[in-house]
Amino acid sequence: MKYSKQREIILQIVQNSMDHPTADKIYEKARMELPNISLGTVYRNLNQLAEAGTIRKISTGTSDRFDKTLKDHCHFHCTKCEKIIDLPVVYVAQLKEDLMRKEGHKIEYEEILFTGICKECLEERKED
Ligand SMILES: [Zn+2]
Ligand SMILES: [Zn+2]
Repeated sequence: MKYSKQREIILQIVQNSMDHPTADKIYEKARMELPNISLGTVYRNLNQLAEAGTIRKISTGTSDRFDKTLKDHCHFHCTKCEKIIDLPVVYVAQLKEDLMRKEGHKIEYEEILFTGICKECLEERKED
């Protein structure tokens, strides 16, 4: 894959983000360094980076989020604050093992997204 300056900056933004940013958030940051960049260019580069396996793309159903972490892990998406939290793969390890043993499929990659309301949002709700 050819590395343009734009792509390098976009990749850097994703790699410096801990919070699985949306393309819009990445676009805002990219504009600070490249004032003329368009949202379309940001989207195109993000999708190409995800296709190449350099970053990971997570679709929540309402938006696409981008993740610098490639190692096995699953996600929890809070529908209230739109936060995406990394979950250790240990929570689905047993499920994967059962699936392989009982169903006979060989799992090579998984994309597991849990959706709900995060601990912080639940606590806020109690205080209301
Ligand atoms: Zn939340
Ligand atoms: Zn993640």
